[in-house]
Amino acid sequence: MNFTAPNNLNRRSLLTGLVAAPLVLRFGQAHAAVPTLFTQGIASGDHAPDGFVLWTRLASNPLAADGLGGLSAPIETFWEIASDDGFRRIVASGRALATSETAHAVHVEVTGLRPARPYWYRFTAAGERSAVGRAITAPRHDADVDRLRIAVASCSNWERGYFSAYGHMADEVPDLSLFLGDYIYEYSLTPDRADQIVRPYALEEATALAGYRNRYALHRTDPDLQRLHAAAPAIAIWDDHEVHDDYSGIWSKTAGLAPRGFLARRAAAYRAFYEAMPIRRTGGGVSSPLYRKLRFGNLAEFFMLDGRQYRSRQPCVDGVTGGKGKLVTDALCAERLDPARTFLGFDQERWLYDSLAQASARWTLLGQNLVLGGLRIGDGGADTQYWTDTWDGFPAARDRLTRTLAAVRPSNPVVLSGDYHSFWTNDVKRDASDPSSETVATEFVGTSITSGGPPHDALMQVMPYNPQVKYFEGRRRGYMSLDISPKQMTTRYRAISDVRDPKASVATLASWAVESGRAGAVPA
Ligand code: FE
Ligand code: CA
Repeated sequence: MNFTAPNNLNRRSLLTGLVAAPLVLRFGQAHAAVPTLFTQGIASGDHAPDGFVLWTRLASNPLAADGLGGLSAPIETFWEIASDDGFRRIVASGRALATSETAHAVHVEVTGLRPARPYWYRFTAAGERSAVGRAITAPRHDADVDRLRIAVASCSNWERGYFSAYGHMADEVPDLSLFLGDYIYEYSLTPDRADQIVRPYALEEATALAGYRNRYALHRTDPDLQRLHAAAPAIAIWDDHEVHDDYSGIWSKTAGLAPRGFLARRAAAYRAFYEAMPIRRTGGGVSSPLYRKLRFGNLAEFFMLDGRQYRSRQPCVDGVTGGKGKLVTDALCAERLDPARTFLGFDQERWLYDSLAQASARWTLLGQNLVLGGLRIGDGGADTQYWTDTWDGFPAARDRLTRTLAAVRPSNPVVLSGDYHSFWTNDVKRDASDPSSETVATEFVGTSITSGGPPHDALMQVMPYNPQVKYFEGRRRGYMSLDISPKQMTTRYRAISDVRDPKASVATLASWAVESGRAGAVPA
């Protein structure tokens, strides 16, 4: 979502700038010198009881115009995993060939490790050694677990500010980091908004593979983001800006662009995402669904959703003209209510409902991109407006999900959402159009790492019509930190002092608690 100029994203930035060189990482041995191949850092992700995914990408010139990082020939890359941070006891190792087919990205799906413990990893290529990363294996699926700490991020717009929030997430040394979408933004601010640019991209809008690759490559030169990825395994999903603002399934919101014209762009963007993220490719690489389940012993199960790829189009949008610019409609839009429309796609819906019926961990965590709890912009009458890009544009699909939660009653469902560049604590109602209906889940919406917030005061004016929203704050940037135990989940809203300050401080703005057995958060 773009809150200020949704029609104005296609013009190319004329600005230029410099890319910061990566700094020394926090974990393990420091580099002897500035890296020449490991300019992109390292990462782990998609934890399992017996392993995780290891990731790096070799690039001598990360922003080379062809998107290939300044490399062409294949490079043999070695990886090592140790049970200690000094690498005295190496427990697994192997080699992978980095090739230009994947822009020299390396994914290793490690298996055979012991559950519920930390490991340290590093890569070596062409005589150069990477920094050291720390990963963890999950506990066995039925193991008793008494605590889990998760840092949750969304919406990191490079030109809007520095990624100090990522650095503070790393400092918390979470067990896991969640990325809920808008990890990159495909566009650049137009020259008339140059005053809002904190650090320029020096890249044109990403529309094809090289451009998308270079957006990730630029982000991965950031020392705070490198530190976060080195600190904990990631679980990542996407939202719209990994491809294009407010796209929906096969539909671009670009005026006159038919699905067949958009799908090549979408495919390039998806490919770059899979290359850049520490995600499992087992089962078909880019064709693997992004939606998936992960577990952390008997304490938590994650249902990570893809809320973009399979969607119906937003309702009441005029595709020929490109719509009204703002994706908002009123209560008279009958298409909005059509039960034939879907948010997750019917295959993913079936998978999710079946999975929720089988969920057996204490906490059932739904990681997804867009606010679920709903927002009435008005008193509920005929002139009430709804954002059509969020679940509010897909109320029948939301009803199917909330009815399923009410019917199958998974243990302690908590929805974690991104996109809205603001903090929200919501009751998710059995019927979102009826505030008096049962609360079937708790929702926490994280703010952005850097991206500009929504109009705070205007939204506060409609909050009286939205009793399901217990807390809203649109003026601050940051992330969410979750501490989970069998009895309680505590969510801290962590706000940074200033996106323009690369060394911004962080403070807890508010804390919310959910007690096991009781849906809905209370101030902690
Ligand atoms: Fe965003
Ligand atoms: Ca978004």
